[in-house]
This record gives sequence, C-alpha cells and structure tokens, in this order.
Amino acid sequence: DDEVRINRYLASCGIASRRAADQLVLDGRVMVNGTVITTPGIKVSPTRDEVIVDGEKFAQPEHRKVYILFNKPRNVITTNSDEKNREMVLDFIDVEERVFPVGRLDRKTTGVILLTNDGTLAHKLMHPSSNVKKEYIAELSEKFTPNLLPQLTGGMRLKDTGEKVSPCRAKILEDGMQVLVSIHEGKNHQVRRMFETLGFEVKRLERVAYAGLLAGELRRGEWRYLSRNEVQALY
Ligand code: URA
Repeated sequence: DDEVRINRYLASCGIASRRAADQLVLDGRVMVNGTVITTPGIKVSPTRDEVIVDGEKFAQPEHRKVYILFNKPRNVITTNSDEKNREMVLDFIDVEERVFPVGRLDRKTTGVILLTNDGTLAHKLMHPSSNVKKEYIAELSEKFTPNLLPQLTGGMRLKDTGEKVSPCRAKILEDGMQVLVSIHEGKNHQVRRMFETLGFEVKRLERVAYAGLLAGELRRGEWRYLSRNEVQALY
C-alpha cells in the first residue's frame, strides 16, 4: 500500500525531476527487481522493490518531518481502522507523508488535533509525563454553578470506573452553560465523564487548544502546517 509511481520515487531519491525520470524509464535505464522496465506509469514500493538506475542502486532519503494542526469536525474519527466506513481524520489530510494523529479525540468532539510523521515527538507528547495542556469548552445541558468548581477541579473519582483524575483548572463561561476545562491527562472521554460524574450531560465538546496551539483561522475540516517556531516549542 506504500506504492508510488516510479517517476515520483526516482524524484524523491534525488535522481531526476519527475519528467526526466519518465525519460530514464523510456530509455530503458531503470530496472525494478532485476527487470528493465519501460513503462513510466509503473508503480513501485519504496520498501519492497529494488530500483536500479544505470546499474546503481538508490535509496529514498528519509521523508521530511511534517507537523499538521487539524480542526476536526464532528463525526470524524481519529483512528484508522473503521469497520463502519466512517469519515476519518486522515481523509482530510492530503499530504504525501504518512502522518498519524497524536492522541485521540472522540468522534463527537470537535477541535484541534496534531498530526505528524515524527514518531519521536509523538511519543513524547503522548507520554503521561509530558504534561501537555489540553483545553476544552464543554457545552452543558444545564447551568453549571460556581459552588461545583471545587469538585470539578479538585481531582475527582470518576463515577463509572472509580478512576481518579488529577486536579485541573476550569472557568465558567458567560451564562454558565459552558465551562472551559484545562487538563493534562487524556483518559478515555475524560471531560465528558468528569461532567457526568457531577450529574451533567455534555452536549458539545470542543478542544480549543492543544499544547498552546489554537484553531485560529482554521475552520472545521481545515488544516495547516505548524511553523518552525511552533514545532520547536513542542520539543
Ligand atoms: N475528553 C472527552 O470527553 N473527549 C475527548 O475527545 C477529549 C477529552
């Protein structure tokens, strides 16, 4: 499934432009797995096929590292495997590199999620000790009142499993129907379960910030590359 057109492959090895690579193929100078090929449209696997040009073997350089911020719409799933054929985050990210989401957002949750092909950074950010701040706005079915804040932020025991969550920060917004919550953990459905523990139903949940990265101009379903400075700040 990692197959690419031979001209793209040769270009990515720095051998020729894609067009010049087509000519190399037409001229019979390219061998794949020991056979001279002359069809420019042929596809090869960079990992499984051996490609030789003018008798010399070339290796594809490591793909560049990319860092992408995505504003996830509702009903888009973060995982890759999906029996039900639902829309996936990766359907929106049309880049050549094989990126993957750093952590997860529930299907119903909207907002920012980071994607990268930088495994080192991804592991670092996902590690429990990383202390990445995630900020959510939860829209509730009923008014949240200040007297409940100590329970919400004090490090509660979740009603359903009895798991304990760490203390966090929260701020009641406007009319009390929305609460901003900042957490550093990422237990399954954590924010929803925290409110459920206090008897509230979360009607909408949006992640408004991840490690200080905000959606900004990104509308739902849109993505952008992180700047160099933003990447540095994550490391
Ligand atoms: N908490 C939730 O309940 N859902 C998410 O997607 C993220 C945090």
